[in-house]
Amino acid sequence: MVPHNDIAAAAQALRDGKLVAFPTETVYGLGADATNGEAVARVYAAKGRPSFNPLIAHVPDAEAAFGLGQFSAEAKALAKAFWPGPLSLVVPRTADCSVSLLASSGLDSIAVRVPSHPIALELLRATGRPVVAPSANPSGKISPTTADHVRRHLKDKVAMVLDGGRCKVGVESTVVSFLEDGPKLLRHGGIPRPEIEKVLGHAIAVESHSARPHAPGQLLSHYAPHAELRLNAEAPREGEAYLGFGRLHAHGHWTLSASGDLVEAAASLFRLLHEIDATGVARIAVAPIPHHGLGEAINDALSRLAAVVGEKFAIRNPSEMDGYMREWRQIWTGRSPLVLRPGSTDEVSRILAIANGTGTAIVPQGGNTGLCGGQIPTDAGTEVVLSLDRMTRILDVDAADNTITVQAGAVLKSVQEAADKADRLFPLSLASEGSCRIGGNLSTNAGGLNVIAYGNTRDLCLGLEVVLADGRVWNGLKRLRKDNTGYDLRDLFIGAEGTLGVITGAVMKLFPKPKTQETAFIAVPSPQTAVDLLSLAQETSGNRVVAFELIADLALQFAIRHAGVRHPLAESSAWYVLAELSDPVPGAMMALFERAMERGLATDAALAQSDAQRSAFWAARELISESQKPEGGSIKHDVSVPVSKVPQFLVEADEAVSRLLPGARFVSFGHLGDGNIHYNISQPLGMDKQRFLDMWNEVNDVVFDVVGRFNGSISAEHGIGRLKAYRMPEIKSAVELDMMRGLKRMLDPNNILNPGRVLPE
Ligand code: FAD
Repeated sequence: MVPHNDIAAAAQALRDGKLVAFPTETVYGLGADATNGEAVARVYAAKGRPSFNPLIAHVPDAEAAFGLGQFSAEAKALAKAFWPGPLSLVVPRTADCSVSLLASSGLDSIAVRVPSHPIALELLRATGRPVVAPSANPSGKISPTTADHVRRHLKDKVAMVLDGGRCKVGVESTVVSFLEDGPKLLRHGGIPRPEIEKVLGHAIAVESHSARPHAPGQLLSHYAPHAELRLNAEAPREGEAYLGFGRLHAHGHWTLSASGDLVEAAASLFRLLHEIDATGVARIAVAPIPHHGLGEAINDALSRLAAVVGEKFAIRNPSEMDGYMREWRQIWTGRSPLVLRPGSTDEVSRILAIANGTGTAIVPQGGNTGLCGGQIPTDAGTEVVLSLDRMTRILDVDAADNTITVQAGAVLKSVQEAADKADRLFPLSLASEGSCRIGGNLSTNAGGLNVIAYGNTRDLCLGLEVVLADGRVWNGLKRLRKDNTGYDLRDLFIGAEGTLGVITGAVMKLFPKPKTQETAFIAVPSPQTAVDLLSLAQETSGNRVVAFELIADLALQFAIRHAGVRHPLAESSAWYVLAELSDPVPGAMMALFERAMERGLATDAALAQSDAQRSAFWAARELISESQKPEGGSIKHDVSVPVSKVPQFLVEADEAVSRLLPGARFVSFGHLGDGNIHYNISQPLGMDKQRFLDMWNEVNDVVFDVVGRFNGSISAEHGIGRLKAYRMPEIKSAVELDMMRGLKRMLDPNNILNPGRVLPE
């Protein structure tokens, strides 16, 4: 052994990757260069029966600490008050933190301290690198407070023991974290809690065990890779990344240590897991690792990691994945390495935290009925789908408050039914209601059939729970009708199409259930008479109109031809209206029809005499979209203009499209009460389908140009998704785009949430 207290020699030994025991004011530490993974691994090996828990990096002054971690003002205040001294602070790592990932168990936090012992300080200054220094005793033995203790147990394992006499404090350092909401005491130690609270000016929470350990003393689990681990694998299977060891390594994969060196393997373990995770691969197969010494620690860490992401709800098999990779029309299809089906908000949070750390793109998916492709991964095969289809619980129905609280994966139909059971109405209603989910409805701010009376999904929402891109959970599940306490964060996430956060829960409004309904299928001569009929209906019914749908004859003919719909009237008309009154004065619909006939606003009508007949009328409306398919290609638009302008819009749009595409067949229908027309165009008879579909953008240009003339919207209720993102710079002002991009940067700085949707890349 080199003689005692040759600080320069000890510093050189550390820089050479050797271990040096040295005194601190708490206990003797077993020092190793924190930037050298292999040196850190030797510390674990020297202590015997090792397990990889985060270690504290020791530095000579606060400035050096500030280079390793991100310190808040409060963290700096504690550093100022107690450094040098027995206080360790746990903070997020800086982007260029030089400390090996093994020292922080692969976590994105770092524990750091400036010791006060003069020998420790001198050594740290001379070494010029951060030094990890857990207590210099074998596992299971008491912490050493004299050089003799160290020599007795670790003589052969260390290059030098610096002797500083007996340690003054004799207990370990106090550990305080500054990671999530406010400071937390993670380990009691040399500085008593009251002294810390005095400096902070407030009480401090105590957390001695955490599911995510950040410091010594918290041993429950570790950094969790996003990918699943398959242990003891002799070779990789298809789609797996391979983490080899010794003779077992595969071409183009990763190797812990080709020579079978356990120290090298431990040193590279977390770094390699991070590296492989960043590729987005779904599963990592790990070669067998011998089960002795450091091998035991490596195996232990690996099995804990494997347990975090269970096999059952992570889909990798392409055939099982298929339903998540395409929507029903097959217009949007994609590829993905993995579909995750979390069962709780906490699991969503853990997934996003990992995705954020590894830069993995996440595509939230609800019922997969969206029409703009936002819920489908791209063809690149790198985006992970996060399906909410297991989070379907109705959490609470409160008839007194008129609220329903649900998990985001609840299917719209089941929410309607739960409300109905409590004698309440949840009025959101779409043709896709048997499949779409509340999280998707909120994310697209869906409209549907009853907007005229109850508003769109935004108007029906009181509170949200959202997981942010970095995994933090915002619980805004409030039931308040009034809450003017600053910015409305809820509204940010509604209509954001999964680009700002993942909605995991919602409180929605309920309404008294209507006792009676009157529904009529009415023939009208033109869109203008339909608009006039709407005014008449609103005036005469005392605002009881809950639905008012316009349908072109061709749209009805398609539904009759291809979807088995029966014509509700004896004779065809150019246009129809499907109108519904809720709790009207009995006979109000008949009275309306008679007045409309007198004024020339209607030519014929069928009034529903039973629930079955009412359903048949609605089926005629709801089956239009899918009955367009057998008619060949269709180019669809979901546009809105002021209600009074709908007739003129239809005239001008039909003329413009016909000029471009003679023979185009107009299948217009939609929510006239909201000025929202599904302006769909079926291919001219006899035209080649592909040639027609190739004109998609040209047709869009013509239609959107007319929409622009009426100051309308090119997406009334379906959103932007992937379909229309490229048009955003045309339809939004520079100021609007700037604000939207600013919000995106703030809430999702690493652009992991639905990248390229809504805002073009
Ligand atoms: P998905 O399709 O799964 O996702 C839609 C978007 O929301 C995607 O960008 C996705 O990433 C995001 N998303 C989904 N869940 C979450 C979440 N929990 N957190 C964050 N982001 C999330 N729409 C109307 O507005 N009115 C209609 O009348 C109407 N009629 C339709 C009729 C038919 C036959 C079909 C197929 C669709 C219709 N749609 C209609 C469109 C569609 O049903 C709606 O947009 C619906 O709200 C989508 O819900 P979803 O659960 O299927 O969402």
